Amino acid sequence: MTGHTELAKRFGTPSYVYDLERVAAARGDLFDALPEQVELFYAAKANPHPELLRELRAGEGRRCRAEISSTGELAAVLSAGFDGGEILYTGPGKTAGELTEALSAGVRLFSVESLGDLHGIGAAASRLGVVATCLLRVNSASASATSSIRMTGVPSQFGFDSETLPELREQLFDVPGTEVAGAHFFPLSNAKDEASLIGEFRHTVEVAARVQQELGTRFRFVDIGGGFSVPYAVGGERPVYGGLRAAMAGALDEWFPGWRTGEVRIAVESGRYLVGDSGTLMVGVVNLKESRGRRFVILDGGINTFGGMSGLGRIMPVSVRLDDEGIPLEQIASLVGPLCTPGDVLGRDIELPALAPGDVVSIPNAGAYGPTASLLMFLGRPAPTEIVVRGEELLSVSRIEHSRAYQLGREL
Ligand SMILES: *Cc1c(COP(=O)(O)O)cnc(C)c1O
Repeated sequence: MTGHTELAKRFGTPSYVYDLERVAAARGDLFDALPEQVELFYAAKANPHPELLRELRAGEGRRCRAEISSTGELAAVLSAGFDGGEILYTGPGKTAGELTEALSAGVRLFSVESLGDLHGIGAAASRLGVVATCLLRVNSASASATSSIRMTGVPSQFGFDSETLPELREQLFDVPGTEVAGAHFFPLSNAKDEASLIGEFRHTVEVAARVQQELGTRFRFVDIGGGFSVPYAVGGERPVYGGLRAAMAGALDEWFPGWRTGEVRIAVESGRYLVGDSGTLMVGVVNLKESRGRRFVILDGGINTFGGMSGLGRIMPVSVRLDDEGIPLEQIASLVGPLCTPGDVLGRDIELPALAPGDVVSIPNAGAYGPTASLLMFLGRPAPTEIVVRGEELLSVSRIEHSRAYQLGREL
């Protein structure tokens, strides 16, 4: 029995175990894969657990900044020690209230999704007597590589269509309370390999330079997005990008020669790569059944516990690992959760070892898009336990709780 199974037996299932040593390793590998001038934003949506946030902000040399898009994420990153000046606020639906809250907390860097968004940011900043530094999020008309979640070149709630920027020029640079300082791109998530990642970054850098020219301005800040990949809920290793640093430096030298001296700051973003392989989901087998020739393994956690992608309508290629690597896979069965909906499936007809009620199985590479990306409240089960370790050392055990707060009427 490994440490994870012991922890799961001690603190109960379903539970996540996050290892901060692995978070630190991912942070180190990603910084090593980037030119030293390039800044790195951690997308808090991948996992806003306080200890993971704190680990990502730590680090002897270079540390992550935070990319957020709600007041909940704002509170999480502030209490993890991030300073307002280290935060990038993004998202297509920023309200006046949340903008005021973010600006009051010292956030000054915003990704702008539309003209209306720019005016909203300007109005909130003006009321507080400050100026918000704005990056125009660009929905480029063209893209270069293939990816699993493509968010560019199609109609979208995200960003300005690149072809419309030249005609908007007059309207972008004189909005009180704002200063348009650059651009933000996020064309790709989870690149299939390093070549696609490099291809996409090259393309983005070139598009950024073209947008700069069309707008007749000089960018001081360009966020060129992400796409750093990690296996999700299946076995396998987090890739290390050995060729990225030189390729990125080459593209930046060509299109943004001032990047080495800080004339233009360059940033990238990552969620899953930084936390994905730090997490293991431990689930207990409650029951087994056969129905019309198909087998089902019923677990104590399903899409209420690990619903990130199934919540978006995709069945994950989940694989389950037993702790003893030697155990043979000897049955095909579906892994289903405890919810009263046929949609509560973690894996359909997958290869599994023999299992019995009471067994604990582990799903590897589950550190990103876990609890907070799940249908946590659906059917009223408790949120999964989240256990944080650093190697052998046990640091914390906690659970998200939700409760009703009355604004009117009274608690019965
Ligand atoms: C979700 C998101 C990320 C993180 O994506 P990963 O695939 O987890 O790296 C980064 N930037 C933006 C703008 C996002 O919406």
